[in-house]
Amino acid sequence: MDKLNLDIRNLNTIGKKRASVLNKLGIFTLYDLISYFPRAYEDRRSFRDIADLAQDSMCCIRACVISVPQVTFIRRGMELLRFRVADDTGSLYITFFNQSYLKNSIKSGKTYCFYGKVSKNSSRLEMLNPQFEPDGKSNITGRILPIYRLTSGISQNQLINYIRQGLSELPLELTDPIPDSVRRSHNIPELRYSYENIHFPRDDLSLALSRRRFIFEEFFTLAAALRFFRVRSDETSEFLISSERLSEFIGVLPFPLTNAQLRSINEMTRDMSSGKPMNRLLQGDVGSGKTIVAAASAYLSFCSGYQSAFMAPTEILAQQHFQTLSNLLEPFGMHIALLTSSTHAKQKREIYSALLDGSCHLVVGTHAILSDIVRFRRLALVITDEQHRFGVQQRAALSQKGNRPHVLVMSATPIPRTLALMIYGDLDISILDELPPGRQKVDTFVVGENMRKRVQSFIRKLVGEGRQVYIVCPMVEENETLNLKAAETYASDLQKNTFPDLRIECIHGRLKSKQKDSIMEAFARGEIDILVSTTVIEVGLDVPNAALMIVENAERFGLSQLHQLRGRVGRGAHKSYCILFTKSGNATERLKVMTETNDGFKISEEDLKLRGPGDFFGHRQHGLPELKIADISCDIQSLYEAQNAANQLLDMDPFLLLPEHSSLHLHIDKLFKANSGSFN
Ligand code: ADP
Ligand code: MG
Repeated sequence: MDKLNLDIRNLNTIGKKRASVLNKLGIFTLYDLISYFPRAYEDRRSFRDIADLAQDSMCCIRACVISVPQVTFIRRGMELLRFRVADDTGSLYITFFNQSYLKNSIKSGKTYCFYGKVSKNSSRLEMLNPQFEPDGKSNITGRILPIYRLTSGISQNQLINYIRQGLSELPLELTDPIPDSVRRSHNIPELRYSYENIHFPRDDLSLALSRRRFIFEEFFTLAAALRFFRVRSDETSEFLISSERLSEFIGVLPFPLTNAQLRSINEMTRDMSSGKPMNRLLQGDVGSGKTIVAAASAYLSFCSGYQSAFMAPTEILAQQHFQTLSNLLEPFGMHIALLTSSTHAKQKREIYSALLDGSCHLVVGTHAILSDIVRFRRLALVITDEQHRFGVQQRAALSQKGNRPHVLVMSATPIPRTLALMIYGDLDISILDELPPGRQKVDTFVVGENMRKRVQSFIRKLVGEGRQVYIVCPMVEENETLNLKAAETYASDLQKNTFPDLRIECIHGRLKSKQKDSIMEAFARGEIDILVSTTVIEVGLDVPNAALMIVENAERFGLSQLHQLRGRVGRGAHKSYCILFTKSGNATERLKVMTETNDGFKISEEDLKLRGPGDFFGHRQHGLPELKIADISCDIQSLYEAQNAANQLLDMDPFLLLPEHSSLHLHIDKLFKANSGSFN
């Protein structure tokens, strides 16, 4: 392992200056160098007969130099090196521009292999600036050659040479993070073979095997790490679930539950009565009805004599949940409290004591719940909404207030299942993949500047009918100050020049959360006609009267983000619309997806395909190491296989103490060093 940590500056051919170029590619150590996998390959295996050459094709030929290379000067600063080569079938000219220094490396009468583009120049065949090497060397011809992602200051051939050198420096004994037993039972080739063949494959099969190996390795070590770092707990409060009381609850709801909601409630019921702590992610598109599912779980906790806590990321969301949950659960005799930073001191004290003596059954709130003062008598269920806003630590802090409580995490960001498996590898997932019946589709349009006037009269019409409008301004570069200005200037322009008679407010990230909440509340009460904002619009907020979402510079947003924004409208009985302004006015392929579907999962799959997992949340909030080769949007089979293998291994050796697992242990530590803390 040590040798792999060698700084590339200490490799012969690289040195300090070149090393700094390689650093730009993220290559610092020998390990980084050989793990810098090709982005594609070029098949240079077959040699062609000169007689068969077609114009404009790239190909390899093996030919003897039959004329002495000549340098001619065409005009100032332009010289040609030219000679003829032949094989058994014909001859052709080789021409180099401005590379007369090659003259000495080409010997007349010797055979070389050339790779280049064939062109026809006044009926003469010619190869321009080919790559070449002496026959028999087979470094750059007659084989499958890697193609790497480059940066300025380095060429394909240089990188190929560095990696060749890197491979030749590999120590004899390579420690493989994949234990032998796993390697054998999953048909995974050895490490050295895989390194050699992923860069310079002997044939198609060895390339396929090596790629498979590294994809498997990434998934396997990641899955093993997630399992390894997971809080280990086995005993918990066992819920005694009475199906009659559950049916009673479901029976009094104002509407029938969707099948997806029923299925999720069943999955939770099973978890919570298993005697092991539930650890479940409830994932559902905006409006899919997650709150009711959460309410059912809090109700079940209550029926078994336990308390629950429900944490939301903002005050106004907490309030909204408090309302909903009170309406649903108080009829069953549950006592519910709202605890946020703006709760009055006296009320706070009452809530603290009611939680401590157990008379309060459910507390809904913000981070305020995390305060040390808050103690529970029998906390057995912790629910967090909009999970991606909370750190893993905060989730853990809340859990520590109970005796290994059940955990339900709700997310409105429809993360594709594959990505969810990676991020929440240790969570079970319930998916609400079905919207309650009767929801209308939000009609979506992609438009350009030429539609500005029409959109403005549309706004006027809707507001005239009593509806409300959101306008979201783009992020301007990554500059907070500019952002703020963009939204504020936009809002005041709109007020002054376009809608002097309408009530317009502006909300942005610089406002204090109290100010934000009070604007949002005013909007929810219908006291604002048009709300101009940067992307801070509260996730999950329900303002059923809002019927139009306008997004400026929509091309700058990710699809999932647009989908989230669109989810702010169409929450009531009113026909709702989403208008996406773009510079070009043309729906790019990407934005077209928005007009074609309202299905958040489909949209996020598209987004993932287009942007890759690293970008998925805009920035990398999930704290996972970057995947070098595996692609979670297409290697799902491999992901499952690796995850099973990791689980089996850790069932047998949960602390990775066996000597044959020590290199996996080391590898995991190294992999997560940069993310330390995020998985405890
Ligand atoms: P989200 O998943 O976005 O949090 P909510 O729980 O806020 O969704 O539910 C959105 C709206 O749909 C709420 O007004 C809720 O009362 C309603 N709702 C939830 N489930 C159903 C259902 N099965 N049938 C009809 N309406 C439902
Ligand atoms: Mg919600």
